[in-house]
Amino acid sequence: MKKTTLETFKCMMCGHEYRENVEKGEDREWSCPECRSNSIRHLKRSDKEGEPPA
Ligand SMILES: [Zn+2]
Repeated sequence: MKKTTLETFKCMMCGHEYRENVEKGEDREWSCPECRSNSIRHLKRSDKEGEPPA
């Protein structure tokens, strides 16, 4: 069974932020829906798994 989580991404090119459902552990290339850049930063959610915010 696949589990997805809603993750937040931010485009480093145009600054567009968006959310997308991703499969846990999924590793794929993201592209900005606004400008199609692949300079996407994956913003960690702060509510899980004890990872301190950067
Ligand atoms: Zn963009």
